[in-house]
Amino acid sequence: MRINSSLGIVGSAQFGISSPYDCHVYALRGPEGVLLIDAGSGLGETEIMQTLANDFPGVPVAAILLTHSHADHSGGAASLQRRCQCPVIASVLTASIVQTADEERSGLKRARAMGGYPHDLTMQPCPVEKSYSDGENFTAAGISFTAVHVRGHSHDSFCLFTEVEGRRACFSADVVFYGGVLGVINAADSNLQDYCKDLPRLQNQGVELLLPGHGLFTLRNGQWHIDAALQEMNSGFLPRQIGQGGGIF
Ligand SMILES: [Zn+2]
Repeated sequence: MRINSSLGIVGSAQFGISSPYDCHVYALRGPEGVLLIDAGSGLGETEIMQTLANDFPGVPVAAILLTHSHADHSGGAASLQRRCQCPVIASVLTASIVQTADEERSGLKRARAMGGYPHDLTMQPCPVEKSYSDGENFTAAGISFTAVHVRGHSHDSFCLFTEVEGRRACFSADVVFYGGVLGVINAADSNLQDYCKDLPRLQNQGVELLLPGHGLFTLRNGQWHIDAALQEMNSGFLPRQIGQGGGIF
């Protein structure tokens, strides 16, 4: 599903193009090939590869870049990495989880027990070739990124900033969604206190493209959505959260 000449979504539960357990898997064309941002659960790999071939025919996958270790984002990384023979890039925190397939720290064990994933979905150890840390500038598939650690959704969540066709873009994972919705979930490492500490780091970033891991995305004035979340959080009331209002947010 092409968004513009360099960006597409090649996996997504909500847009109905891959497994119902997949986050949005973005594909961004760079000088070295296509960069996948997140990998999905692994259950939609065939559809993801098909959409990739349709949207970016003949362009190899140069790297897979992970935002955090939740199974809907990272579960498919090991298998995709083997299939595409490309490096996986993740934060130091996420790397320590996906390399050892640590289902406890990724949250998969608990989420699976709660019925959030099929009982036979397991994490496979995934080698990580390159790691990034908070505030670091790094390249993936020849594209420059800056990593900003924002806890609250999970302890290892990062927002990844780059430029898409000359405009400031933020791959915001499950940290902040369209409309300023936040991602507090029922997990031990997810809480509003961490959001209060870290979300202000997304202030004044001049984001145009806001590209979250679920729900709607926008190509214009993405900062408005981030600022709306900050404003709600600072109002003294509970900001709106993912999961409220069914699957629509
Ligand atoms: Zn998540």
